[in-house]
Amino acid sequence: MKDKCGIVGIYSKSGEVSRKIYYSLYALQHRGQESAGISTYDGGMMFTHKGMGLVVDVFKEDNFEALKGNKGIGHVRYSTSGKSLIENSSPFVSEYEDGYIAIAHNGDIINSTEIRKELESEGRIFYSTTDSEVLCHLLIKEYNKSGDIIKAIQNVSKDLIGSYSLAILMNNDLIVVRDPGGIKPLSLGKKDDLIIVASESVAFDVIGAEKIRDVEPGEILLINDELKSFSLPGKGKIPRSYCMFEYIYFARPDSIIDGKNVYDVRLNIGRALHQEHAVEADMVIPVPDSAITAAIGYSRESGLPYGEGLIKNRYVGRTFIMPTQEDRENSVRLKMNPIKSELEGKKIVMVDDSVVRGTTSKALMDVLKEAGASEIHLRVGCPPIISPCYYGIAMASKKELIASDKEVKEIKNILGVDSLGYLSIESLIKCIGIDKDQLCTGCFTGEYPTSLPKNIEKYESSRC
Ligand code: SF4
Repeated sequence: MKDKCGIVGIYSKSGEVSRKIYYSLYALQHRGQESAGISTYDGGMMFTHKGMGLVVDVFKEDNFEALKGNKGIGHVRYSTSGKSLIENSSPFVSEYEDGYIAIAHNGDIINSTEIRKELESEGRIFYSTTDSEVLCHLLIKEYNKSGDIIKAIQNVSKDLIGSYSLAILMNNDLIVVRDPGGIKPLSLGKKDDLIIVASESVAFDVIGAEKIRDVEPGEILLINDELKSFSLPGKGKIPRSYCMFEYIYFARPDSIIDGKNVYDVRLNIGRALHQEHAVEADMVIPVPDSAITAAIGYSRESGLPYGEGLIKNRYVGRTFIMPTQEDRENSVRLKMNPIKSELEGKKIVMVDDSVVRGTTSKALMDVLKEAGASEIHLRVGCPPIISPCYYGIAMASKKELIASDKEVKEIKNILGVDSLGYLSIESLIKCIGIDKDQLCTGCFTGEYPTSLPKNIEKYESSRC
């Protein structure tokens, strides 16, 4: 399961920004590992460097000298819409009558295929298959009518279905937009005369900036030597729908998202898992790394010792190529190795953040059994995932989700565990500490915060 992207935007009244954007992207690497890019503007020219791979591989020392300017945006990408190709990497840059525009997008525009067809029928030519290019065409089209970018964004937003946190560099202006539901996170920070926006607050910490606040759902920020706030027409009319999975899995535990400390939420999840699904056992272990904090919470609440039963090989990236099906099925052994002396003859509570297809969980249970665990009790830090995500999280199609058509008992038998306990949605909401009507629960309930296009099955197969 992967998030689509991470975005950064920096405006400084005095200094160059490319290196700071680079450090911030480094902090957001977990949000996308397929490509990375930075665009800057120096008052006359726009400069862009992007490439396939990790931030550290894409940027070399001479790139920073070439990326001139005191304002810029950056992007790390994992593709859910558009293939993993260099032309689909971001920021997406275009020239228009009055200069340059660059866009970095986190989210998914569900109706972008329809919008794109309309734009193509008007004679507009596309160079990529990304939502960012669709947004770029729409914005330029609207901007040419009024010469006012804020009006253009407000008008364009009326036609968009889906999630979008945007950082837009338009000549000297940095413009930031969060969709009216606020599905994707977006924070605002400051350091001296520098303003920064980013998907997560960890991008501020790395350059010594301070978080000021979250960008409000439905808010537009125009950042230049001043900072002005505007509203999308949908602001306040569409309910807030923060993605629950940011707290469960995607965001770094050291981030603060929409006022909530992700680390604390995950500790709460572990505690609540024990309250709902206590079991007699010798030790609690996490699926590393994402379930570590929840496992600590379970251990503290239950009094059971916390241990490391599995060691993760941190050098196996998601792009690692395994040529045969057999290799792919065994990939979990490449990523996780058991510590037999910790597991042998012991009753284990294993905490995981989520179960999607169930294939990785099943393989992990086999690894634990072979290492000698006498009992395995799997505790999952969220409810069963019964429906896909349409807002920028690459999960699986509905038929691939193990819980879409199976009861917990059946899943327990398939995974081969002695007991299986999922966290209830009520407890999860309490753990996050945000009202239910301000959270997206789509993948757990099948009830989504936006309308969905009629041909949603087609959409599913094109994105997963
Ligand atoms: S459907 Fe699930 S993963 Fe997607 S935005 Fe909603 S809560 Fe997040």
